[in-house]
Amino acid sequence: MTSRFFVENDFRSGTVSFSGPEFHHMVRVTRHQVGDTVRLFDGTGKEADAELTFVTRHAATLNVSKIETVPEETGPRLSIAIPLPKVSRAGWLIEKAVELGVANIIPIKTARSVVDPRSTKLDTLRQNIIAASKQCGRSRLMTISPVVEWSNLLKKECAGMGIVVAHPGGASFTEALVKESLAEAATNAKSKKATSTPEIVAVIGPEGGFTVEEINQAVSEGARLVSLGPRLLRVETAATMMASVFIAAQLSD
Ligand code: SAM
Repeated sequence: MTSRFFVENDFRSGTVSFSGPEFHHMVRVTRHQVGDTVRLFDGTGKEADAELTFVTRHAATLNVSKIETVPEETGPRLSIAIPLPKVSRAGWLIEKAVELGVANIIPIKTARSVVDPRSTKLDTLRQNIIAASKQCGRSRLMTISPVVEWSNLLKKECAGMGIVVAHPGGASFTEALVKESLAEAATNAKSKKATSTPEIVAVIGPEGGFTVEEINQAVSEGARLVSLGPRLLRVETAATMMASVFIAAQLSD
């Protein structure tokens, strides 16, 4: 695959200049030279070929051509609601979520979650999203919502979505269960006259688990409790597994 580089701002046909981390990656790490063609993307679906025309010690100039808009994915969407773990483990989670096509991460605050994502952490995670999107060929960046409190997640943020809460002892999280939740979400969306694609949100608890009150509240708001098997998974493993089962359900359609 042609090397891909991220352009923060809107780009047009003509020339574009690179400096900073993307310049470093293009010229120092992947050692592109004048005459090479690379692929540019802006994270909103716009992509283009570009030829490297000029390189100095700190910047590169490219000639942009063949701009195209990659069609938006139309299938069901998956969001993951999760208390973000510490930055090294959150970085791993973000990388896998981007590769597995997760649309959005919703950081949640629960009774037992401890780490509140600071803006520096969110900046690092955004860099992780860009790096993973470059690597896996994704055109639209996965988003990270602002932090949401537990009851707002259930009542507002995820209204109209199929909510599946990972909790030991729940029903097995299978492809069939994903399909049922999507069908339910589609019916909800219709009754609300929404035109959006069906979406499910996979909710994962903190290392200390959910409280009994949080689980009761989830059930009374119509969420399904789901088991991820007999072993206790770390939060990032639980998220990766749920995204994988979600993909498997789409592939088996
Ligand atoms: N001591 C906690 C408990 O008993 O709930 C363990 C929490 S676990 C490390 C963190 C979160 O991952 C859980 O709240 C749950 O959402 C999810 N999780 C991990 N393993 C799971 C499993 N086997 N089945 C369902 N959810 C699981």
